[in-house]
Amino acid sequence: MTSYKLVARRPGQADTIIQIANCRIGGGNVVVVAGPCAVESEYQMLELGRQLKECGVHMLRGGAYKPRTSPYSFQGLGEEGLQILARTRELTGLPVISEVTDVRELDKAYHYIDVIQIGSRNMQNFALLTEVGKQDKPVLLKRGLAATLEEWLWAAEYIAAAGNHQIILCERGIRSFETYTRNTFDINAIPALKELTCLPVLADPSHGTGRASLVAPVARAALAAGADGLLIEVHTNPSQALSDGFQSLTPQEMGRLMRELRQIAPAVGKTLP
Ligand code: PEP
Ligand code: MN
Repeated sequence: MTSYKLVARRPGQADTIIQIANCRIGGGNVVVVAGPCAVESEYQMLELGRQLKECGVHMLRGGAYKPRTSPYSFQGLGEEGLQILARTRELTGLPVISEVTDVRELDKAYHYIDVIQIGSRNMQNFALLTEVGKQDKPVLLKRGLAATLEEWLWAAEYIAAAGNHQIILCERGIRSFETYTRNTFDINAIPALKELTCLPVLADPSHGTGRASLVAPVARAALAAGADGLLIEVHTNPSQALSDGFQSLTPQEMGRLMRELRQIAPAVGKTLP
């Protein structure tokens, strides 16, 4: 018996299904979320959103508040970035996800976006977890940089304990001794979480590898291992991206990956609409 009682899988319990507009996350449905690491301009986001919709992506994601290691790196457009995301949703009809890094951003973000992302660096920001737990939008909870599965599920428990059970977990790689890749994508985490919890599990091979050339193979592996969806960074011109260009796919590469995922999904008993 585990002590994170709200998010632990109980015998016979059905998978949690989270419905966001027309997108169904969990329960055998595969959801593909894509977008730039950061919202950089209205033109960039609207054009990329249009191209990603054409690829068949189900949801869009872009950062407005960016948690950057250096205070001198691009920090995101803030509320303007959220407004651009809302306009992109209007244009494409696709739901949007964005990260909130501080409780003071939450009210603002709530009005513009469909899913609130808690990033790795905030996985144990307990005040923020409790606040997103009090509101009624789904939360995408990324794994902490060096968090164990148990610590991650405890973080999810904070959100559930505050009343919000619409939690999506996202494996994004962990720190290891390896330096060739930005992080080490923990494929074990996907089937392990399926045993431990009913919450849907997404995979982020972009941060999990940090290298564009490795994103598609690791995305395919994650889907085969049982992920309920993928989160992929895409940029129309990765070499010019203001953040994470090195790990970003082009829309053409994203289109190819979608076709590959469509072949894998039925082979592992899943539906990719
Ligand atoms: C991101 O999603 O762009 C991000 C900053 O990811 P993580 O929190 O996983 O590092
Ligand atoms: Mn990023």
